[in-house]
Amino acid sequence: MTAAQPAAPIAFRQFVLKLHSRCDLACDHCYVYTMFDKRWRDLPRAMRHEVIEATAGRIGEHVRAHRLDRVSVILHGGEPLLAGPEHVETAVSVIRQGAAPVPVRMTVQTNATRLDERYLSMFDRLDVRLSVSLDGDRAAHDRHRRGPDGQGSHARVEAALRRLTTGYPHLFNGLLCTVDLRNDPVTTYLSLLEHRPPTIDFLLPHGTWTTPPPGRPADPRLVPYARWLIQVFDRWYHTPGRPVRIRLFDEIIQLLLGGASRLAGVGLSPMAVAVVQTDGEIEMDDTLAAAHPGAARTGLHVRRDPFDAVLQLPVVRAQLNPAAALCATCSACDLRQVCGGGLRTHRWQADNGFDNPSVYCPDLYAVINHIRRTVRRDLATLPGAAR
Ligand code: SF4
Ligand code: SF4
Repeated sequence: MTAAQPAAPIAFRQFVLKLHSRCDLACDHCYVYTMFDKRWRDLPRAMRHEVIEATAGRIGEHVRAHRLDRVSVILHGGEPLLAGPEHVETAVSVIRQGAAPVPVRMTVQTNATRLDERYLSMFDRLDVRLSVSLDGDRAAHDRHRRGPDGQGSHARVEAALRRLTTGYPHLFNGLLCTVDLRNDPVTTYLSLLEHRPPTIDFLLPHGTWTTPPPGRPADPRLVPYARWLIQVFDRWYHTPGRPVRIRLFDEIIQLLLGGASRLAGVGLSPMAVAVVQTDGEIEMDDTLAAAHPGAARTGLHVRRDPFDAVLQLPVVRAQLNPAAALCATCSACDLRQVCGGGLRTHRWQADNGFDNPSVYCPDLYAVINHIRRTVRRDLATLPGAAR
């Protein structure tokens, strides 16, 4: 065994099923359609029944081989609700049968434009949770999240969220918000909060050293994304009772206090997530497609290959040992245990691959350092704290 290999086999506990490869929106910040990887054009639109059955069989096989007591499955796209209610229900049932008797926590990641009463009552019956993409208020959201006709989707998403939060609040998993520096951070945060989500995920727009994210300057002294996130953090952290779980901040605090990370892109805990495309190919984190075409592909297929075969791939084994996968700069960084070098996708540079800090390095350092100072100050005020 080399230093780059983990000692014990790790199991996949989360599976992402690309139920539908197309979308009814045409967001200009979408990593699936607007970046380098155009493979979606060759994929079947919806995952066929036989692929769902093969995936369910492989999940069941994996669950038994690793004696897992639960797994989670995210129905994803494109836009998974484009598959239609019958197809979505079939997928949920077949996957659960495949994993039985082990329970499957099912979540749908949706843009919510089709989230009507029929879908909601079905998800209630099936106990399926919903994560919804919302970038803020109308101006913020419609800046990117528009249909092919150029019309913003905010009004439809807001109506769907009203249906969800009034009739089925127990199904609400949370909101995903892609950061745009042009949107006011606190206004964005407060507009998300209006929908009373249990969690908010703030996502940095995908970019690499070769194709930098919007507004990320070459000058490492400038930290616009950190300044944006810090304004949200300060508002959130200093609100008594903290009205929502913001996973990025929660995980950073958890790591600063010596815990482990459960969120991709922070910390050094191994994250094993298997993605199954509509054609049945098994992929790694599909945001890697934002780095270069084919970056997420494994060449393995649910019809032929068990998920354990993915875990044996050298590239996957290396990623399952995140500390060993860090570049020299990150390995020497005092915040590496918390930052973890950021999302692998964001380390890409055409010249040398992923052997780099994150393109967001200055922002990550600044935001984590701010949270560290804030938490330290708080801890110092606790009774019995060393002075
Ligand atoms: S809703 Fe999601 S999948 Fe669809 S275009 Fe927008 S970002 Fe892409
Ligand atoms: S702050 Fe920068 S150098 Fe430090 S671990 Fe993160 S990406 Fe690497």
